[in-house]
Amino acid sequence: PPASSQAVWRRGGRFLACHACCRVSSRAYIGLGANLGADLGATLTQAALHLAALPQTQVVALSSLWRSAPVDAEGPDFVNAVAALDTELAPMALLDALQAIELAHGRERPYRHAPRTLDLDLLLYGDVVLDTARLTLPHPRLGERAFVLRPLMEIAPELAHLARGHDWASQRIERLGPLSL
Ligand code: ATP
Ligand code: CA
Ligand code: CA
Repeated sequence: PPASSQAVWRRGGRFLACHACCRVSSRAYIGLGANLGADLGATLTQAALHLAALPQTQVVALSSLWRSAPVDAEGPDFVNAVAALDTELAPMALLDALQAIELAHGRERPYRHAPRTLDLDLLLYGDVVLDTARLTLPHPRLGERAFVLRPLMEIAPELAHLARGHDWASQRIERLGPLSL
């Protein structure tokens, strides 16, 4: 990037960019989950199509579909998956887009941990670390949840260190089959 740009600066030998006005692509991982609705696999396929249609964004990998028992949630079993994106959207813009997709699928939040038609969590956004009222990165509970880690390890085995040190192996989860668009 040009040294003159106000939005790009150098720290520790790496270029950092503001993500507001620069065209910088970042690898983001999205956790998809649903446990309310007639065909949960179809819901996640539709959600993945919505992700693929986001501006300045490509879906670079999709995990399988997995069925999991509710963890930090209520209601019937979930169907889960993880998608890897390359996106130029800034983290907050990506969260806005994820929440718009949730709303388009009828997401309601009557109470914490309620069953949901669609949940899209921003698990990781590059190596960004953030703790604001609306967005925490990495997702604070990602390392404790088999329904995140099993699909994530399918498409990003290099992130296996995130799965260490937590008791998630006993959580009930089974692979259902591929998630294809
Ligand atoms: P959990 O976060 O434990 O998976 P949940 O998905 O049921 O719980 P939601 O009701 O979907 O929780 O989201 C609550 C709030 O979490 C959202 O309004 C959002 O602003 C905030 N949030 C903070 N960090 C993230 C993140 N990394 N991804 C998605 N939402 C986040
Ligand atoms: Ca969630
Ligand atoms: Ca969520």
